[in-house]
Amino acid sequence: MMILRGSPFLRPIDRRTFLRTSGALAGLVGLRVVPGARALAATSSLFSLGVASGDPTPTSVLLWTRLAPDPLNGGGMSPKPVRVRWEVARDEGMQQIVRRGQVTAKPGDGHTVHVIAGGLAPDSWYFYRFSAMGETSRVGRTRTLPARGTLASRLRLAVVSCQDYQNGYYAAYRDIAEHDLDFVVHTGDYIYEYAANPAAIRQHRGGECQTLDDYRNRYALYRLDPQLQDAHARFPFLVTWDDHEVQNNYTGPISDEGVPADAFRTRRAVAYQAYWEHMPLRASSRPRRDTMQLYRRFDFGRLARIFMLDGRQFRSDQPCVEPGSLGVGPECPDVFAEDRTFLGTRQERWLYAGLRRSRARWNVIAQQVMMMRGDLGEALGSAVPVYNMDAWDGYQAQRQRILDFLARERPANPIVLTGDIHSAWVAELRQNFLDPASPVVAVEFVCTSISSSFLDSFIPIIEANLGPNSRNPHIRFFEGRHRGWTLCDVTPERWQADFRVVQTLSDPASPVETVSSWVVDAGVPGVRPA
Ligand code: FE
Ligand code: CA
Repeated sequence: MMILRGSPFLRPIDRRTFLRTSGALAGLVGLRVVPGARALAATSSLFSLGVASGDPTPTSVLLWTRLAPDPLNGGGMSPKPVRVRWEVARDEGMQQIVRRGQVTAKPGDGHTVHVIAGGLAPDSWYFYRFSAMGETSRVGRTRTLPARGTLASRLRLAVVSCQDYQNGYYAAYRDIAEHDLDFVVHTGDYIYEYAANPAAIRQHRGGECQTLDDYRNRYALYRLDPQLQDAHARFPFLVTWDDHEVQNNYTGPISDEGVPADAFRTRRAVAYQAYWEHMPLRASSRPRRDTMQLYRRFDFGRLARIFMLDGRQFRSDQPCVEPGSLGVGPECPDVFAEDRTFLGTRQERWLYAGLRRSRARWNVIAQQVMMMRGDLGEALGSAVPVYNMDAWDGYQAQRQRILDFLARERPANPIVLTGDIHSAWVAELRQNFLDPASPVVAVEFVCTSISSSFLDSFIPIIEANLGPNSRNPHIRFFEGRHRGWTLCDVTPERWQADFRVVQTLSDPASPVETVSSWVVDAGVPGVRPA
């Protein structure tokens, strides 16, 4: 969603103070200097972008790195394949090696490495590192899933989204790395494609991303952030994308900003390639031309089945609003059109099959945009509902089929995890949002952004549309003033969500605190304050 350029935190005086104290001039000569964190020369190391892991099974995990001695300028490698050694150990000192191997980093993949470390023990933590060309990477930490059928006693997740580099520092990731978690679930807007903004807290380089090199350099810029690197090195990530990995509010093959179809097809293809290259994803997700298999699922034993959805690649265009607009508008008949889709037919069927067969205590649907109904019409004086048409409100036929499925088939304890909107929300999803007697079929937790801004002027409009007697009685919590992340602490008995918020985006050492906590009790429809 595009609510959102410029920072509510960044007043002119703050910026001048910041520039004086942070050594931001270093950015002009290719160095990164972050107050309160270690300085990192962009040209110092083959493994300048750190390490990452993700997409575990009970016996394997995907390990990632990239060879990039000059990360902001195409990587700096000569166009030849390079052998990379990898090691997995029981201990952080890398003494008790349990697996090792070699893999080739290829120029066609930007010298990224995606290697599956297999033959591991279920429900176990491991450490890993890479070496090539006489250099050795930092040591990362990762874990496998519990064995199939076992009921783990606990699962702790960070849910994150929307990390606009230009809008501020990643104190939220520092806070995540300081927690004891099993995974980070990223629901999209890992990068922003926007051109450099000289007035921002820190700057993108160059214009809006268009080419493969542009997107690669943008991922490199983000991944040079030491706090983001630390979070990747400490936990496996489960990732999905939203729009900004390609372009704001794009849907399926359609640019929202008037790029002609052929040119946009090419752009989507290079953007998908750069996303795959830089994420800890398995070969099954490798792009084929301009398509990519991103939706997939993970079983944390029998405690949780996690569906990672792809709500961008197969979507119909947003209804009822002009391309390039804010995307908020009054309801028109298209929001109900049966031939319009959010997930596509195959993904919808795959979701139902996975829910039907699930034996998990918690069924977790991690995805991009708000599934809850969000009618802004009351405060805007509109008799007709007013929606963010980029969210599920613009795709109500498919949403209703999913809500009906949940009501009919009753998979255990559905939880929806969402990003996109740069603000924190909790809602009870009812089969029929307009009928307060209709059953609650799921609870949705929306994390606020890591750093992307929310337009403060929307806050009173939203708040005036909330409350038990409003048109949105199912929405239980909204917090739009802060950035941060959501900590989900899960046991067989209850799901607790803590909304962590950063005090200021202009300081990577910013304090982070819990602003609100909510609980779902297993077997009890609905959500309550903790
Ligand atoms: Fe975003
Ligand atoms: Ca988005």
